[in-house]
Amino acid sequence: MREFVYKALPSRVVFGTGKVTTVADEVEAIGSSRALVLCTPPQRAQAEMVAEMLGSRLAGIHDGAEMHVPIESARRARALAAELGADCAVAIGGGSTIGLGKAIALESSIPIIAIPTTYAGSEMTPIYGITENGLKRTGKDVRVLPRSVIYDPDLTMTLPLGMSLVSGMNAIAHAAEGLYAQDGNPVMSLMGQEGIRALAEGMPQLVEAPDDKEARASCLYGAWLCGTVLGNVGMSLHHKLCHTLGGTFNLPHAETHTIVLPHALAYNSPNAPEAMEQIANAIHASDGPGGLHRIATKLGMPTALRDLGMKEADLDRACEIALSKPYWNPRPVEAAPLRALLQRAWEGAEPR
Ligand code: NAD
Repeated sequence: MREFVYKALPSRVVFGTGKVTTVADEVEAIGSSRALVLCTPPQRAQAEMVAEMLGSRLAGIHDGAEMHVPIESARRARALAAELGADCAVAIGGGSTIGLGKAIALESSIPIIAIPTTYAGSEMTPIYGITENGLKRTGKDVRVLPRSVIYDPDLTMTLPLGMSLVSGMNAIAHAAEGLYAQDGNPVMSLMGQEGIRALAEGMPQLVEAPDDKEARASCLYGAWLCGTVLGNVGMSLHHKLCHTLGGTFNLPHAETHTIVLPHALAYNSPNAPEAMEQIANAIHASDGPGGLHRIATKLGMPTALRDLGMKEADLDRACEIALSKPYWNPRPVEAAPLRALLQRAWEGAEPR
């Protein structure tokens, strides 16, 4: 018998094609009336569309979202929100934009409505990250959990194919680690398996036709489920490695997840057989880690850290950092096998 504790996070989800048009209703539903719309500079046009839909409920647009949420950028956005008298933030974009909304919410407690346009999953988590003096500080605070999330597959049509695929693999990583989480539970396991299934079904269809609406919807639905798992249970070795590689060596977030995942899962495989079987079933493969590696290769995703610009000489340091303050992991994290894992991920070898 498996013992568990199940706790649900309070959030409202609106899912469907064209649902971005309900943004003003969502502002009202959370009891707000003046929204500051957040975006990155390239997504300004989507933010302007949302601004128009908000009508009299618009406080302004801020297109200053940046990767890793630098503290200066968070301060600027907080000051602007106060100056404009905003009583909520509408973040339209990927994890970086939603991260900026979270940085505002953390200090001012103004609620966030998230409109995710990638599959990263930040919109379903109470986790925030802010970078100060080159160090990314992360923490958990329920005030940063978006109160309402609008998933509109139409808004993901502009996400370039390559980014869509690695972002999908980033989402799968949350669900895969959730399947063997120490604080996991049967509900999160169901969500994780269904999330992996939906993404593994949608991603190859995107390669055939990147603007296939059903495939886009399947991927976004999977991203929601996988993000929910990330928000509810603890992550292990794979996420620790990706934080190390992204934080210290400045490697791109979703690509790093894509490359490391099969190797981290292969490492944990002997100690998490049930999770590996669930992953294999969800992707219709004979094994989980090898199956994910084959999907990445077949769909043309990056499979070697060296192709992201990582230097082989940095692998020892990456190993050392990953060994310090380890996350809980189903298999003890030891130097020699971890260093071998990193070497294989660097070379783009098969996971084992
Ligand atoms: P991102 O938000 O950095 O976006 C990458 C680029 O793609 C940006 O220029 C963005 O404007 C653009 N983009 C996004 N959606 C688009 C679309 N539909 N069409 C065209 N361009 C689009 O990338 P990401 O992978 O979504 O997020 C990564 C960041 O999020 C990392 O810093 C990561 O740490 C963080 N994150 C945090 C959590 C959490 O729970 N706190 C969870 C996942 C990711």
